Amino acid sequence: MSNLAYKNKKLHFSNLDLSKVARDYKTPFYLYSEDVLVENYTTFYQGAKAAGLRKPLVCFALKSNPNRELLRTLAKLDSGADIVSGGELRRALEAGIPAEKIVFSGVGKTEEEITYALGVSKKGIYSFNVESLEELELINRCAKKLGKLARICFRLNPVVEALTHKHISTGNKTHKFGLLEKDILASLRQKRLWSHSELVGLSIHIGSQLLDLRATKKAIAVLSSVALKTKLPLEFLDVGGGLGVDYHPDETRKLPTIEEYMGIVAGTLEKEFYAKTEHRPRVVFEPGRRIIAKAGIFVMKVLRNKVSEKNLFVIVDGGMNDFMRPSLYEAYHGLVPVKESRATKLSHVVGPICETSDCFGSNRLMPPLKSGDLLVLKDAGAYGYSMGSNYNLRGRPLELLIKKDKRIKVINKAQPYEELL
Ligand SMILES: *Cc1c(COP(=O)(O)O)cnc(C)c1O
Repeated sequence: MSNLAYKNKKLHFSNLDLSKVARDYKTPFYLYSEDVLVENYTTFYQGAKAAGLRKPLVCFALKSNPNRELLRTLAKLDSGADIVSGGELRRALEAGIPAEKIVFSGVGKTEEEITYALGVSKKGIYSFNVESLEELELINRCAKKLGKLARICFRLNPVVEALTHKHISTGNKTHKFGLLEKDILASLRQKRLWSHSELVGLSIHIGSQLLDLRATKKAIAVLSSVALKTKLPLEFLDVGGGLGVDYHPDETRKLPTIEEYMGIVAGTLEKEFYAKTEHRPRVVFEPGRRIIAKAGIFVMKVLRNKVSEKNLFVIVDGGMNDFMRPSLYEAYHGLVPVKESRATKLSHVVGPICETSDCFGSNRLMPPLKSGDLLVLKDAGAYGYSMGSNYNLRGRPLELLIKKDKRIKVINKAQPYEELL
């Protein structure tokens, strides 16, 4: 659900007229919809239940969007969190997500972060998703110092090729992520690694923006097989995140529904795991993009046009420092004018940053746009604000939320110059 539509030739998001919103707030800004966020989370969680999964735990991946207010909304829906740093852990706890619903991913956890995560509650966080044996040794040592038992989940490298962009694919031997099956099984025989740690789960995460789920299916089969080989009564199997969204119209027809995705998860577990044991670990999910991408847009204003022979550049007030995906991954995002009119001109929509890659879209068919016209970059809720920077010494943009009652709430102020200087 994205909720972006024209009414009387004016673009509305979550039923609010964007030309009116832009009268009250200075561009560029992110605008989120609480309705869309709640619907996306609920559909995901209910989908897991409907597929017959027992006590599913949906751990929202904070790195996709760590805004406090959005996290509080998710916390109220009983969401857990997938975090990758001490900063994200503090943010998740502050937003009201309890420690027993937090999993800690990432290859480079520091001693300080581990010690903090062990200390946040009696049992520490729900799970350390461990990426190397050296990391396990360090966690075990930290737990020993604190007189605790660390809850460990190995991130398995299932050695599959996810069909997605090379920079967001993570499930093969050449990627830095995860442990190979043989190393996981060998570690279980090394008693000294487990003096203050226990293996409670096994996880995978093979990449992001996945639309073709064949690799996911294979990876869950490998996960099941390794879980059985551990011969341990694991508390959970974590199938990671990565489910994609349709950024481009061509992707809409490939887009798996939540029902299809959950059917693949539950069906593969049924065949590869449940059929072979009485044991029923709960299933953990780590979605980011699928929950939040379509709940947000990025609203910009046209500054001016520039013509270089046959090239028409539409220069906008948002830049790659605000929204990085197109410049970082050559990601496609829809660009739509707030005032509906006939698209007649091939345009390059570019930001003010001094980089050629600061381009939100090239050769897009757009209506003629002039200074002051508003333009929306679609599906900007995930990996938008969170990847932003102060490059070119630009302040971070405003973030707004359309609440359930259609009131607008400022959920992050535009960064003032005083903070930059
Ligand atoms: C980034 C990440 C996620 C979330 O990925 P999405 O594509 O946003 O769903 C989940 N788990 C891990 C380990 C990640 O690194």
